[in-house]
Amino acid sequence: MNRYEKSKAKYEESKRYLAGGVASSLRTAMKPVPLFAQSGKGSKVVDVDGNSYIDYLLAYGPLILGHANPALTDALHEAMQKGITFGLQHEGEIEAAKRLTELLPCAEKAVLSGSGTEAVMLALRLARAYTGRRKVVRFHGHYHGWSDSIFTAFPSADMRASAAAAGGDSGVQPGTGGQSELSLQDVILLPWNDSDALLEALESHGDEIAAVISEPIMCNSGCIAPRPGYLELVRAETERRGIVFIMDEVITGFRLGLGGAHGRFGIQPDLVTIGKAMGSGIAVSGVAGSAKLMKLIEDGTVSHLGTLNGNGVATAAVLATIAELSKNEGAAYNVMEDTTQGLVTGLRALLKKHGKSGIINHAGGPVFHFMFTEEEAVEDFASFNKRDSAAYSRFAEEMLAEGVLVRPNGLWYVSAVHSAEDVEATLQAADAALGRLPG
Ligand code: PMP
Repeated sequence: MNRYEKSKAKYEESKRYLAGGVASSLRTAMKPVPLFAQSGKGSKVVDVDGNSYIDYLLAYGPLILGHANPALTDALHEAMQKGITFGLQHEGEIEAAKRLTELLPCAEKAVLSGSGTEAVMLALRLARAYTGRRKVVRFHGHYHGWSDSIFTAFPSADMRASAAAAGGDSGVQPGTGGQSELSLQDVILLPWNDSDALLEALESHGDEIAAVISEPIMCNSGCIAPRPGYLELVRAETERRGIVFIMDEVITGFRLGLGGAHGRFGIQPDLVTIGKAMGSGIAVSGVAGSAKLMKLIEDGTVSHLGTLNGNGVATAAVLATIAELSKNEGAAYNVMEDTTQGLVTGLRALLKKHGKSGIINHAGGPVFHFMFTEEEAVEDFASFNKRDSAAYSRFAEEMLAEGVLVRPNGLWYVSAVHSAEDVEATLQAADAALGRLPG
């Protein structure tokens, strides 16, 4: 019997009713089939065929406490029993916003939304309303959700080179069919980690630019660290020109520490967007930042809307997540750092053992990117694009066969409940999987 027989059958069944068979387009990338989950507990997930996996997909990032953490599920049950949502104010909102303002260094005020995409939409609106300007600088390889005004295609380096050779634009293309090119007319797309490119754009368009938006670490394309001084430069130059600096911490918020990446790096953006780990798997996101920007919500200049914003389940999830991660002075972060180091060091040794050319980029925190590449270092989007995606996808498939669930694009998330035994079992699996790769 095929190991994935039931997932395969369910995928076919799903496609009859659910357009595309998956609820988020990216999920079709999993080979040999988008797996159907049965249950999850701690660091493990079990599929409908009964296969158990050590999980480093972690639902694309949110599950920082692993699956079905009892402190979280108890808090959620309690919240649900009190009434799931009211459309009225409740104390959970005050508490959640208060904790965010206490923990995130840049946060004087916070608001709650439902997804990272919505948080970014709001942050951009605040920036445009505050500055009275329209243009937004964003960077190749970063992802800020799929809303019309910021979602761009991830063109490969080759595509960009040929577009440039043909006198075409610098690659601002819609990320999806049905998205008007006009919605991106105010986007300036720049290479990241490139101080000259930034300074040049700010020099030519500075007084038209409302915001610069950046992930603090380029988690969406290779977990590339900012070059020393780069984020400081972004901060100083935006401040000097009255441009709003939005740090998109949807991945790094609560993952790189209770103060996010900006707390860890000691940089004060004007606004920060958070999501994923802040709710441990419950749909919740937020924008936090300086009082002068958040005031625009208070005085009614900028609308912040959403039927389910700040619902009792979402705020209970935020509070339980923060409580768990804050225990014993944030001991969970040390555990995650050790677990991640163990994986990264072990995987690098296995690459060597098997004579495979690969790179593991780890810029700190429980998240890293594993790729097969002939490059000596992957420090920008162009070199990231030279990786062998097909080989990695094949490796991810072999890892599934060995009982380890990893994202087919190479991004690994680690939780507070992955154990030393999980690391050991994962490295054994990787040893076997690498041994089966051709070449
Ligand atoms: N910003 C970043 C940096 C992200 O990684 C993501 C999601 N991967 C988003 C925004 C969008 O978040 P969501 O999927 O919750 O809309």
